[in-house]
Amino acid sequence: MGGGVRRHDSAPVAIIGGGLAGLVAARELTRRDIPTILYEASDSLGGLARTVRDEYGFSFDFGAHFITNRLAAELGAGDLCVTVPRYGEAVVTADGTTYHYPMGFVRNPRFVADLLRARLVRDRPASNAVEEMATSYGSAMANEIAGPILEGWSGLDPRLLSPAVVEKLDEGVLKTLWLKTAGWATRRAVAVGYTREVPSSAKVWHVYPREGVGSLIGRLASTLNEDVIRLSSPVQRIHIEDETVRGVTVNGETQEVAAAMSTAPVHVLPKLVEGTDSLDYLARFRYRPMVFVNLLLEGRGLIPDVVVWYTDRRLPFFRLTETPLSMPWIAPQGKTTLMADICADVGDEIWTADDADLADLVLDGLSETIPDVRHRFLGVRVLRTPLAYPLFLNEYEADRRRFSRGTGISGLYSIGRNGEFAHILMEDVYWRTKAKVRLLTADLAVTSTRV
Ligand SMILES: Cc1cc2nc3c(=O)[nH]c(=O)nc-3n(C[C@H](O)[C@H](O)[C@H](O)COP(=O)(O)OP(=O)(O)OC[C@H]3O[C@@H](n4cnc5c(N)ncnc54)[C@H](O)[C@@H]3O)c2cc1C
Repeated sequence: MGGGVRRHDSAPVAIIGGGLAGLVAARELTRRDIPTILYEASDSLGGLARTVRDEYGFSFDFGAHFITNRLAAELGAGDLCVTVPRYGEAVVTADGTTYHYPMGFVRNPRFVADLLRARLVRDRPASNAVEEMATSYGSAMANEIAGPILEGWSGLDPRLLSPAVVEKLDEGVLKTLWLKTAGWATRRAVAVGYTREVPSSAKVWHVYPREGVGSLIGRLASTLNEDVIRLSSPVQRIHIEDETVRGVTVNGETQEVAAAMSTAPVHVLPKLVEGTDSLDYLARFRYRPMVFVNLLLEGRGLIPDVVVWYTDRRLPFFRLTETPLSMPWIAPQGKTTLMADICADVGDEIWTADDADLADLVLDGLSETIPDVRHRFLGVRVLRTPLAYPLFLNEYEADRRRFSRGTGISGLYSIGRNGEFAHILMEDVYWRTKAKVRLLTADLAVTSTRV
């Protein structure tokens, strides 16, 4: 864009990415009559929120499984959803003990004494995630439970992770107990720890769209005019002049824009922006690639709860999810799915293993807890993502905090889970995207008064 581009009032806002964040941003902007174009690199919308269904009646969500009635209502998709009767998490330790969350821990005097001690002597700031866990919940919880789980989840020594990883978990012990009690009393799966932007409450519970999480995306897209969405349109460049966004290049064509909202992973932003090196520090931010091995099995109720975390690091997985315990209809009657989360690096032996070998690995890992698991085995379906979780490493924690305050480039807003580099679920993606749209709208109003 040599010579520069002059901005004029009708230039649209470019949205980069057609996952939940991009679509919410597009809806909010078009509601305000702000010209908007949403560019999605692939040939379909949804990003991490996609559902695949097979010919045998099994259905799999790519990322998100669980949303709340509050988010469904905000998306105008309440009618697509049904209330989930059951949701629960548990931890299984290396010696085979199961702790259902939170009561399993609350009933254990050792964890409780340790927690109280930690709360009384919270003397110095923690320097990593395990220390933060120890100062918030006690050393038994940190060393026996959180440490091994964080190691399985991140694939790294958890002492390399910043204390901020633990902030995500902190709903507060008493609030958690209250929400769980409310859930038992109302026979609903009241949501615990799903949002940080708005308060949890007994009136917010888990729901699930009958046709899978992907159907939320269809509902959002249906609120937009066809000319807003451009599929198979990767944004290749974001043009910056004087630290201000001027345009984007898509499929070789340059479009002048008033601003850009990007949901692209932050470590690719330095490659996308042209005309500044002020975002170069983002290139070293890392995401954890993950392989999800879905075993199709005979039977149901094969693990102690819907989501089970494993502290035994000899196991290939750190977490199993039996989604049909919450949503019975997503597997044929009498059958179930177990999704094993396995940490990987793109190109390593887990990432490149074929599906049958991955199934074997998980079946071996399950042989002690479900002795007849091989007789139950019906098939496998494997999903891989290079961008499952942002890794908060201590080595760039100061930069991460700086980035959380904004890109520093006028007219460039980074939104969504990978765009904000944040451990956020769909509801927080929603609230935070709305807040960023309000900010953008205010910024545009200021710019147009100045012009
Ligand atoms: C394993 C896992 C489990 C999860 N479980 C839950 C759950 O139970 N409940 C819950 O609420 N949330 C869950 N989440 C989180 C939820 O899936 C995400 O927060 C949400 O889907 C993120 O939406 P997004 O729009 O920010 O990003 P994405 O869905 O990643 O969308 C980004 C889009 O941008 C496109 N894009 C990227 N670069 C470009 C470019 N240069 N040009 C054009 N397009 C581009 C991509 O193709 C993609 O479509 C889970 C996530 C994971 C990984």
